Amino acid sequence: MGLAVAVVGAGIGGLTAALALARQGHSVTIAERRTGFGEAGAGIQLSPNATRVLWELGLETAVRRAACEPSGVAIRSLRTGAAIGAMRLGPELEQLHGSPYLVIGRQDLQTALLDAVRGRPEIRIKVGRSLTSIDEASGRVRLTLATGSGQAETLEADLAVGADGIGSATRTLLGDGRVPAFSGEVAYRALVPREAAPVSLARPDTGLWLGPGRHVVHYPIAAGRLVNVVAVAPRPAPVEGWSAPVERDAVLAAFADAAPPLAALLAAAPAWSAWSLADLPARTAGRGRVALLGDAAHPVLPYLAQGGALAIEDAAVLASCLARETDPAAALAAYRRTRLPRVCRVQATARRNGRIFHARGPVALARNLVMARLGPDGMADRQAWLYGWRPDAR
Ligand SMILES: Cc1cc2nc3c(=O)[nH]c(=O)nc-3n(C[C@H](O)[C@H](O)[C@H](O)COP(=O)(O)OP(=O)(O)OC[C@H]3O[C@@H](n4cnc5c(N)ncnc54)[C@H](O)[C@@H]3O)c2cc1C
Repeated sequence: MGLAVAVVGAGIGGLTAALALARQGHSVTIAERRTGFGEAGAGIQLSPNATRVLWELGLETAVRRAACEPSGVAIRSLRTGAAIGAMRLGPELEQLHGSPYLVIGRQDLQTALLDAVRGRPEIRIKVGRSLTSIDEASGRVRLTLATGSGQAETLEADLAVGADGIGSATRTLLGDGRVPAFSGEVAYRALVPREAAPVSLARPDTGLWLGPGRHVVHYPIAAGRLVNVVAVAPRPAPVEGWSAPVERDAVLAAFADAAPPLAALLAAAPAWSAWSLADLPARTAGRGRVALLGDAAHPVLPYLAQGGALAIEDAAVLASCLARETDPAAALAAYRRTRLPRVCRVQATARRNGRIFHARGPVALARNLVMARLGPDGMADRQAWLYGWRPDAR
């Protein structure tokens, strides 16, 4: 019989979880703090482990319509522009894993998810509701939500899913008082109209530029009309939120030694925003009848482009555990057991990638040699464990 499920947070993870659970016959209420769904203008890479789940949920047409499929990643030196290596993406990777590696605007992904959610009668969204407390008693979960006007509202369910992002109130209310630690770096983000970008970088593939202590990633979004740029550099203090505006000059100064085409791309950005990078080692994805999912459970440093993908994986595994176990508490225990090794491995690989991307001196030289020797296919093969993941893998 279908359960009543409360989902806190309507980000990538919460919306995907609602869809996956509704497909299993559960009725879902999503409580979202925001009152509107405007997303910060930025892009997201969706690797095959994520698109596989989205396709199963019927989102292929909507996602493909707005996305681009890069043919590969060109890896270059941030300072000289010299080629370091490459990684194969495109149709060959899709053939290998049965689902594609795509890049898409966050707003477009959110629209695809929201349209699908709104098309399911089993899902209700309550916006302007902020979680303030959780009580579990007699096999039920009671959430208290604060409304914008300061009223308190209760939401009762058979189980709850905390998908409320890196600063998760659910995680804190479950007794995990840890605060994600600022890594000392920020991701500066910008969108450059394709016609303003240097011709050599306005191509339908992904660029990765590696330099000491910094890197830049760019790829096309909005069906190729925009180039999404993410430039990671040290910053002494964190900035607040997803899209804090930052001075253009501060970004350009952090990359003053960039090779000419990259410098031209950075200079072409009309505006920059910043997001502070933070880490929190995964511990356990919930307790009792409350599951944690996505960044609420395991924020991932963006050096592997996997935070959103893991949230999407979580949603699929949660739905599959609930389909296998009749007792919801046992299903959530199975979900926690299943996810922990995978998310710990992804978090650790992302941290390691950060050290490799930002290496200096002899370590950087060794990195460049290894990448050149592996070649585009060898680089893609190293990610097979990540991209080849399937929801039913235990
Ligand atoms: C620079 C950068 C680049 C990245 N690139 C990639 C990439 O290429 N690929 C990838 O897979 N991942 C990437 N990520 C990671 C990815 O963006 C996140 O992991 C993902 O957005 C997490 O989704 P989520 O649903 O868990 O959380 P969020 O997207 O943060 O959603 C949480 C939701 O909960 C709501 N909320 C918060 N508190 C409450 C409350 N108390 N009550 C009710 N609602 C609440 C919020 O308003 C929000 O809507 C990147 C991250 C960064 C910083």
